[in-house]
Amino acid sequence: MEIQSSTLYVVPTPIGNLADITHRSIDVLSKVELILCEDTRVSQKLLKHYNIDTPTKSYHMHNEHRTVDRLVEQLQQGMSMALISDAGTPAISDPGFLLVRACLQSGVKVTSLPGPTAFVPALVQSGFPTDRFVFEGFLPHKKGRKSRLSQLAEETKTIVLYESPHRILKTLAQCAQVMGPDRQASISRELTKAFEETVRGTLEELEAHFTAHTPKGEFVLVIQGKN
Ligand code: SAM
Repeated sequence: MEIQSSTLYVVPTPIGNLADITHRSIDVLSKVELILCEDTRVSQKLLKHYNIDTPTKSYHMHNEHRTVDRLVEQLQQGMSMALISDAGTPAISDPGFLLVRACLQSGVKVTSLPGPTAFVPALVQSGFPTDRFVFEGFLPHKKGRKSRLSQLAEETKTIVLYESPHRILKTLAQCAQVMGPDRQASISRELTKAFEETVRGTLEELEAHFTAHTPKGEFVLVIQGKN
């Protein structure tokens, strides 16, 4: 495969199982001139595993605003770059949107490769309708949290949320409060990893389950839409 100059390749990386990367993604990462990484140390593990020695540079939420213009300039001058995050698809609850938008506004080509992302397997194995769903990413931690939850309580499509282990119980309790304790939901944790698990039940049952079993790992919460 030939790499195109003046192109940003957005490349999804595994969310736990190193084997979950496409041949094309490995090819792109091996051949571009520069890989922008959310955390270069985290990505080194993957790059080493696949013998990729392309130069890397940090691109994360704390430097994206001040680095985006220079990166677009370099791309306009002919460079080829790949953007990766710590896990999954860049720009999905991860840095990426700002750079993609700036590239497109400046006439730089963006090619987004298909690959791992946590919400798709969680949604599919929840058993809830997949024809229409809303992806909400992380709920706001403080400001706007209550009003977002009230909006979601009326949502009729399947709802997909990302959550951290130390907030999952609070989120389940608040969802049960606004949506009712009997609303069906599904939690997938540690997807693609050795201790992958999906627990299904009412919001109340899930809260009880994770009160009895200390929440560990990474979580996707899928909630059935309002009937
Ligand atoms: N860009 C990633 C994607 O495409 O899914 C998401 C990055 S976001 C910073 C991290 C969140 O994704 C975690 O808090 C969790 O909600 C979800 N996540 C990532 N990996 C996961 C996994 N292996 N199992 C379950 N959830 C996961």
